Amino acid sequence: MKYISEFRDTEAIKKLSQHLHAITKKPLTFMEVCGSHTMSVHRFGIHDLLPENVHLISGPGCPVCVTAIDYIDKAVALARIPGTIITTFGDLIKVPGSYSTLEKERAAGADIRIVFSINEALNISVTNPDREVIFLAIGFETTTPPTAAGILRAHEGQIKNFSILSAHKIMPPPMEALIEEGIPIDGFLAPGHVSTITGTAIYEFIPRQFGKGVVVSGFEPVDILQSIAMLVDQIQRGEPKVEIQYRRVVRPEGNTKAQQMVDEVFEVTSSNWRGLGNLPNSALNLRSKYQHFDAEKKFQLVLKEPKEPKGCICGLILKGLRQPPQCPLFEKVCTPENPVGACMVSSEGACNVFYRYKK
Ligand code: SF4
Repeated sequence: MKYISEFRDTEAIKKLSQHLHAITKKPLTFMEVCGSHTMSVHRFGIHDLLPENVHLISGPGCPVCVTAIDYIDKAVALARIPGTIITTFGDLIKVPGSYSTLEKERAAGADIRIVFSINEALNISVTNPDREVIFLAIGFETTTPPTAAGILRAHEGQIKNFSILSAHKIMPPPMEALIEEGIPIDGFLAPGHVSTITGTAIYEFIPRQFGKGVVVSGFEPVDILQSIAMLVDQIQRGEPKVEIQYRRVVRPEGNTKAQQMVDEVFEVTSSNWRGLGNLPNSALNLRSKYQHFDAEKKFQLVLKEPKEPKGCICGLILKGLRQPPQCPLFEKVCTPENPVGACMVSSEGACNVFYRYKK
């Protein structure tokens, strides 16, 4: 299949692997910041194709994983309000909150429905005019434009019984936070999907301020190996910069129409990240014009103090400081069927990926 088979071609993969072995002279650590990259890296056994001195570590790129526990607590509190319908992507339903999960709340009678888009959630609100429909809006720059489009549709249609609980996040601030924390990262594989929307200007501060390279990578084995070779090449030349390997999809300017739509609906704010704490300018809130669609403004939620799952080291894993098998609960207590932390829930979460592919 065009755009897949040539990027999984065995000969091309072997050549790139040999090339990497030939050009890598010193130990290097690169971080893949995107959950889809983490999945591809393990699915295709990329670690086994790299020279021994090249390490790939996973970063904070799984949206479900980085969403702080108090967000789940708020979603649970909203689900308990009589008459609400919670609409959510499937991943979130199993994520443990401090005291419950959406799955448990649904079993206890809350109306929680899995949807594939915000449009589906809006349709539910249209057909249930006497119920409040709340959409759990999480994700990075890739999923924000559909949320913005949904809010605009709700605004134009004057849909009154619809709101969102927003935890939309922005990718560059955690990358900056990790470098500033001193985590040894020699370069980043930047997310292909996010960059399709944002373009590449958002990463320019990384080589400029920190002297580290960024390569926007595709998701097939040839993409990933080629991107790593580009990062190694930048280091050998002493020329860190932002480059696009995923040229068949990503343009330097990104999707300007989507960017305008997001800017119309959202404004930048600080946000709490799992493992990384509160990061300034790292998330999106509805602008005042659209705040009547903000579930937190519509309902006064009374929440208990958030409580992280005991023994879970998700936060360290999201920073690339630990690997999932280093968690004492991995496989023994925490599994995809019985997740203790968010990193075991999502198919893009590092613990879930390790569990599925390392076996
Ligand atoms: S294995 Fe489970 S408990 Fe351990 S870090 Fe991962 S999600 Fe948390």
